[in-house]
Amino acid sequence: MAMDLERVVEQARETFESGGTRSYFWRRSQLRALKDLLHEKEAAICEALKIDLGKHRVEAYRDEIGFVIKSVDYALQNLKKWMKPEKVSVPLVAFPTTSEVVLEPLGVVLIFASWNFPIGLSLEPLIGAISAGNSVVLKPSELASASSKFLATNLPKYLDNKAVSVIEGGPLVGQQLLEQKWDKIFFTGSARIGRIIMTAAAKHLTPVCLELGGKCPAIIDSLSRSRDVKVAINRVAGAKWGFCSGQACIAIDYLLVEEKYAPFLVELLKEKIKNCYMRPADLTRIVNKHHFQRLREIIEDPLVAATVVHGGSLDQENLYIEPTILLDPPLDSEVMKEEIFGPLLPIITLKKIGDSIEFLKGRPKPLVIYAFTNDEKLKKRIIEETSSGTVTFNDAVIQFALDTLPFGGTGESGFGKYHGRFSFDQFSHRKAVMRRSFCLEFSFRYPPWNERKLQFLRYLYSFNYIGLLLLFLGLKRCSST
Ligand code: NAD
Repeated sequence: MAMDLERVVEQARETFESGGTRSYFWRRSQLRALKDLLHEKEAAICEALKIDLGKHRVEAYRDEIGFVIKSVDYALQNLKKWMKPEKVSVPLVAFPTTSEVVLEPLGVVLIFASWNFPIGLSLEPLIGAISAGNSVVLKPSELASASSKFLATNLPKYLDNKAVSVIEGGPLVGQQLLEQKWDKIFFTGSARIGRIIMTAAAKHLTPVCLELGGKCPAIIDSLSRSRDVKVAINRVAGAKWGFCSGQACIAIDYLLVEEKYAPFLVELLKEKIKNCYMRPADLTRIVNKHHFQRLREIIEDPLVAATVVHGGSLDQENLYIEPTILLDPPLDSEVMKEEIFGPLLPIITLKKIGDSIEFLKGRPKPLVIYAFTNDEKLKKRIIEETSSGTVTFNDAVIQFALDTLPFGGTGESGFGKYHGRFSFDQFSHRKAVMRRSFCLEFSFRYPPWNERKLQFLRYLYSFNYIGLLLLFLGLKRCSST
């Protein structure tokens, strides 16, 4: 196996070194082929997602197939522009010079994907990697084995299989891959494995991008207009129970609410669950027994169980957990210490909604902070006084679909951005190119030093043109020294 793997990496490198992946035409053809794959194999992808996660066809299209098609289209529309060298201005000190930033592919890149959006989170970074002209080895998650098999079978049929390969397997294969030399490692997964990735990358000084998780809070202000309340409830419920059953890095993890508003909010959420989230067929199931058991232990902690105000029933055979609301579980319990990654929604009450800022400041920086509010002062405080990968006001999750915004974490939620142009940049080296001619040679740059040269440099760096003019003739005399 290790030999096969080495051969795959070698081939990816040979292909890259041959220069084949650099042309605009190669990149465009790969993006188009990816789009063909998504269109032609929609049914097979839905089937794989059904097997892996019981994902509904609509959810599969919304979050994975359609989502990736949108990103491919965006890359196709912008690829030429992204590839163009960027002219930059030049300071007087280097006159006459032209300069530009050339976007160079990195080489052979390794992409690790997680299981919760096994197609989307494999292909979204792949779009960036091939747009930027790299060879790629993709390792999907072994926990979504049908999706992993789908990618391993179909990507080589549609894409240039000398430049893009899929290696299937779990941690052992992951470790073997990490022993190879890469030009970039792009990792989506947990902070625990993220640390392993970074440690391995250090050996070859390989740059990494870590897309990790964490607890994304949603601050729910006491909204007064009934229309706003209705929309907020739709969006909060959608971002928890209608989005991979909360098994998502950007799902709402918990709510922060004023004490007096909490009972009203609980009633509305219960009503929403009753109307939209009761049929198991509409809900993505828990990925496997291990995660089911993990969530069971969280919910069966007596101090947490006592705070359940809705739901709480579990069906182990079908790996189904009912949408569950917890009111004020202990802050030192597992449910409030670790990323939940499941359909449990804790509501934490505060005296004043403004206290949410202090609450967040003392905790690890999340991937996203959501806030549902019309209070502009509160919005400003959230932007200025808290830190997170993203801040989204009055909606949740949808920000992930914006190709024009960088997506990624900060602190514990990871580092490095992608999506749209940011993906292209993530997989490119911004090479500085400076062009000069042999004319205009000034002696002020070289010894022997004198006060006049120092004065000239002072004027030059401060753009003092008059001073420069006055000194110019004098320096001309020095230019032969
Ligand atoms: P994980 O860290 O267990 O696995 C991620 C990948 O690493 C998988 O491909 C896995 O096979 C591989 N892997 C596991 N152990 C390894 C090892 N020892 N050496 C090398 N590779 C190894 O994560 P997961 O359970 O698949 O995903 C859930 C986590 O991912 C959550 O924390 C979630 O928040 C995070 N996540 C983040 C994003 C994001 O975009 N920021 C998106 C989805 C999930």
